[in-house]
Amino acid sequence: MKSRRDFLHKVTVSTVGLPLMYHASPLWAMPPKTTRGPVLRVAIMGLGSYGTRVAEAMQQSTRAKLVGVISGTPSKVADWQKKYGIPTKNCYNYQNFDRIKENPDIDAVYVITPNALHKEQVIRVAKSGKHAICEKPMAINAREGEEMVQACKEAGVRLLVGYRMHFEPNTLEVVQMRREGDFGKVLFFQGQSGFRIGDPNQWRLQPQLSGGGAMMDIGIYSINGARYMIGEEPVWVTAQETKNDPVKFKEGIDETIQFQMGFPGGAVASCLSTYAMNNLDRFFLNGTSGFAEMQPSTGYGPIKGRTHKGPLPHPHVTHQTLQMDAMAGIILDGDKAVVPVDGEEGVKDLRIIDAIYEAVRTGKRVIL
Ligand code: NAD
Repeated sequence: MKSRRDFLHKVTVSTVGLPLMYHASPLWAMPPKTTRGPVLRVAIMGLGSYGTRVAEAMQQSTRAKLVGVISGTPSKVADWQKKYGIPTKNCYNYQNFDRIKENPDIDAVYVITPNALHKEQVIRVAKSGKHAICEKPMAINAREGEEMVQACKEAGVRLLVGYRMHFEPNTLEVVQMRREGDFGKVLFFQGQSGFRIGDPNQWRLQPQLSGGGAMMDIGIYSINGARYMIGEEPVWVTAQETKNDPVKFKEGIDETIQFQMGFPGGAVASCLSTYAMNNLDRFFLNGTSGFAEMQPSTGYGPIKGRTHKGPLPHPHVTHQTLQMDAMAGIILDGDKAVVPVDGEEGVKDLRIIDAIYEAVRTGKRVIL
């Protein structure tokens, strides 16, 4: 168990020798109490590639502990039980997991399954009286997201979305600088999010499981990033789609979409979402008195970049470990995230995705 002193030591070490112009106590260092206190006992639903990454990262968390699994594959359950010491009474499948209601040893379920399954699964988790953490995108449209928020409210449980960047130190450094006016009046954001997707048979390319293509999966980072980097909600969107491979990217699966968003303060965002190109993980923010450039901006890290004041200063910390520590603090202690991660935040991104798809369909500017 890491102590508070260890954490403060880490913060101190990480900030010693920084150029004075960067924050000695960045937003992410507060509140330090998230590294101690009661432990959130978590079951992971969906033991796939990201679920595995979260499970590994949780081993370093001081506030969240992996205690259960929900999976349709008995052999994976057996492997995870062995690896993480998970008791059989905390193992469920997709048919029987409502019984988690009767299990006093699990506080929260982290849903890490294909996008189109999130809504029904989160609602079942809520009805079982457990807190829900849900991967992004939280659902496949805003209406579904709103139903999830409502269901969790009615059940009296928390709903958080796995926006790991909201806890990442260099990201929060830029957010803090923007809040303090370091960039002057923010006028422009550019977000580029994409990778070349492989296996044509994977669920990400099946609309009934993914709910959409690159936009749902990776373009959402540019949408979410524009909102936290600019610090406002967009009031309109325009969007244009390009599809070079209609066999791989069938109806309902977007390959490449360029989109623009207008913000009430006068800023504009220009973004690219794609499944057809690698090396696209970049944010650029420009204001009347400074800029921030991050590349990579949302990958698993290290997140790197610079502002008009110099290179971004904070060392890499495993995103999912920070996220789980912070989410335990939010659920158990009522902490507030610097950049929100609640269900309402997830719905805001989905409203924009709905509007982008509408703008692609109609060729018109969509007012939000
Ligand atoms: P994956 O294919 O590796 O894992 C999905 C898991 O869901 C598998 O274990 C699979 O068996 C299970 N599953 C349950 N029902 C299924 C069904 N009907 N069809 C197919 N699989 C089913 O996918 P992943 O990369 O782990 O993505 C899962 C979720 O996590 C997605 O919503 C994705 O957007 C999100 N994700 C988030 C991040 C992040 O950085 N926050 C990164 C990767 C993925």
